[in-house]
Amino acid sequence: MAGARSSTTREPAHAVAWHDDAPNPTQFTTPAGTPLPAQVDWLVVGGGYAGLSAARRAAERGARVLLVDKGALRDGASSRNGGMVHVGFGASLAAIEKRFGSDGTRAWLDLSRAAVARVAHLASEHPTGLRATTGIDAGWSGTGHVELARSARGAAEFPAEAALRASAGLPVRLLDAAATAALTKSTSFAGALAVAEGGGVQPARLQAAMASAAQQAGVDLRERVAVQRVTRTKHGFTVTTSAGEIRAEHIFAGVNGYADAAFPALRRRAIPVGSFMIATAPLDPATLATVAGVGEMRFDTRNFLSYWRPTPDGRIAFGGRTSFWPDSLSRIARQLRTRMVEIHPELADVAVTHAWGGRLAFAFDRLPRIARLNGVTHVAGCAGSGVALMTYLAEAAMDWEFGGPMPRAAELPWSPVPLPYEGFPWFLPLAGVGFAIEDALTER
Ligand SMILES: Cc1cc2nc3c(=O)[nH]c(=O)nc-3n(C[C@H](O)[C@H](O)[C@H](O)COP(=O)(O)OP(=O)(O)OC[C@H]3O[C@@H](n4cnc5c(N)ncnc54)[C@H](O)[C@@H]3O)c2cc1C
Repeated sequence: MAGARSSTTREPAHAVAWHDDAPNPTQFTTPAGTPLPAQVDWLVVGGGYAGLSAARRAAERGARVLLVDKGALRDGASSRNGGMVHVGFGASLAAIEKRFGSDGTRAWLDLSRAAVARVAHLASEHPTGLRATTGIDAGWSGTGHVELARSARGAAEFPAEAALRASAGLPVRLLDAAATAALTKSTSFAGALAVAEGGGVQPARLQAAMASAAQQAGVDLRERVAVQRVTRTKHGFTVTTSAGEIRAEHIFAGVNGYADAAFPALRRRAIPVGSFMIATAPLDPATLATVAGVGEMRFDTRNFLSYWRPTPDGRIAFGGRTSFWPDSLSRIARQLRTRMVEIHPELADVAVTHAWGGRLAFAFDRLPRIARLNGVTHVAGCAGSGVALMTYLAEAAMDWEFGGPMPRAAELPWSPVPLPYEGFPWFLPLAGVGFAIEDALTER
């Protein structure tokens, strides 16, 4: 792997490493220019995990389903994320317990575990999994995850978090500084909390498998068709799109961090943020084993967190961000590389070949939502846990639509952001300064 060490100073391609190693889901879409159907039972907006899961579920129940995305299916977050399928939410369990008590915490943890189990099943070789039905291997790792504290103060929060998880039956292990250094082969951390449930997927392959499965179920998938306006009628909706007008009895929107003026109620509630990743060139097996261990998904506990993992093709994919101020991808990629090398100095001479970003969304309380807004069913706000949660909650939302029980994430109220706000989070850079100060003060 000598080539991996030859070009450390060259600018990485602004391209998604996962895309090099996954089928392009465009092949499962209806050719561009084909007229839209005049009327459907369900219009699904957004071709990420949420839209694809909801659309497949509705089609499997016999509905006529049209899914549209304003870009290519690969343009959303679902083919460009870290692929970490972990138990947890944007909110800490301590915050969840403070708000919902121990029974409520248990219920939220059960929801998260069910979501992780669902993706593990979909990505497995089970006859009803996506590998068997589509032939696409989503690269499930089953390696669990490790949360890492940068300081003793950060690690001091782990015993309480571990106790909450253990009380719900989660296989969790606390590591002191020495055990953490032995596991990570890095001296950057003061302690860790390891969870032996969940793992990782190759996110773009998972999305491609979902697109193939949706097409097989009968969903009509369209790229580059933007929903521009939604008007409620007596019997459903009239929808203006960039490819003409259609009527839909029901609408599911899986637009999350990419919500625009077509869904104003969501834009007033979901706060979009960018997250960024870099990938190294494929590493030699010895370096990969040193840096990635058995391949657990790893992330630290900072507000501006870092997360990293090995890829199925032997790279390290490293993500995060350092502020909410707008910045160029090139500069962010350099900052991520610096962070990566701080943690693993053995990567100092390794070339970074790819850099990319995407948008996720969160609610103020950092918990996910299923919400009916202006008659449209939305799943949104899964923050950095959307691989599992978006998939699972979209299916649960559809089951609810077809007469099943109301999912927990639909019970939470979701008020608009209490500031003049229309989807452009002008207040985030200021909030980010507070986050950075908190990270510095707690030495996270
Ligand atoms: C860099 C990065 C790393 C991440 N890492 C992880 C991780 O490791 N683990 C994890 O669990 N989560 C992670 N996430 C979050 C996760 O990727 C998202 O929560 C998830 O992919 C969201 O899926 P979705 O289907 O809701 O939305 P998306 O996949 O973002 O899809 C939304 C789609 O809606 C379309 N759309 C929007 N408006 C319209 C319109 N008007 N008309 C037509 N189409 C429209 C957009 O074009 C877009 O394709 C990460 C996110 C990013 C950006």
